[in-house]
Amino acid sequence: MTKHKTGLSFEVFPPKKDEEFDNAYQIIQELGKLNPDFISCTYGAGGSRAGKTIEISSFIQNTLHIDSIAHITCVGFTREDLQRNCDALKDAGINHVLALRGDRPQTMSDEQFNNREFYYAADLVHYLKEHTDLQISGACYPEKHFEASSLEDDLRHLKEKVDAGVSSLISQMFFDNAYFYRFMDKAGALGINVPIHAGIMPITTAKQLGTTVSLSGSSVPKELADIIATYGEDKEDMRKAGIDYAVRQIRDLKEHCVDGIHIYSMNKIKTTTEICSMI
Ligand code: FAD
Repeated sequence: MTKHKTGLSFEVFPPKKDEEFDNAYQIIQELGKLNPDFISCTYGAGGSRAGKTIEISSFIQNTLHIDSIAHITCVGFTREDLQRNCDALKDAGINHVLALRGDRPQTMSDEQFNNREFYYAADLVHYLKEHTDLQISGACYPEKHFEASSLEDDLRHLKEKVDAGVSSLISQMFFDNAYFYRFMDKAGALGINVPIHAGIMPITTAKQLGTTVSLSGSSVPKELADIIATYGEDKEDMRKAGIDYAVRQIRDLKEHCVDGIHIYSMNKIKTTTEICSMI
């Protein structure tokens, strides 16, 4: 019997300032040495920096020769913008995207947000399938998306998105593996059979957990809350305890033969390298 191999991948983001790019390239190069199956690069929804996502994704794909996934969002894109972005991706040799709806940026009115041309990620997937030959991944939520009325409802929409042409999924971060296993069971029962990469966010500061939880809606198990209470005041102890928590989560996921581990690297090379050396 062949043993199932759990994949490894990272998420990076384009720096906010142009002068920070050299450093970001160095970090991504170091991440590349950890032998990931792919590296994905985020996109700021509604922003004007789509080109930066392409620049970083192109570096990953063409300089490091590692598969790159460029994130794209519905929010802030007209049909024309989207086609231009797809053409730019093609010119840059990038053939894989993470098709997302995106959230309303602070600078965008509710009216603008609600009048977007592609409403759900699935609409974007339909367009990409019809007009490009890009490979398409999508996002999923082990604890349900914050707007969905139930996990069952969210999963039904996820099935529509997968059926529209998504070939793999990357999950929102979660801190309690039980949610991921429950989600996998329910997704499987609905016939969602594409590979699902488990999103892991190492929490290395107390402040980061607050921001992360408010953005992702992921629940915090008592064990992680206790770690913050015990080590939150001490920078290095907190970093070590956060790494240890992430490593234990990953080891357990690997024992459960999940398809892939997707580490939200936050462009932190030291933390990511340490985690990878322990798994
Ligand atoms: P969708 O799949 O469209 O789902 C959004 C909501 O709509 C869900 O509640 C779903 O149940 C519901 N829904 C879907 N279809 C229907 C329907 N037909 N009728 C009624 N309801 C429906 N954001 C960024 O801006 N940039 C990034 O780079 C980025 N990267 C991300 C990477 C990952 C791995 C993840 C998990 C999220 C990322 N996000 C990013 C955040 C994402 O944009 C938000 O979570 C957004 O709110 C939802 O995006 P989605 O693609 O999952 O949306």
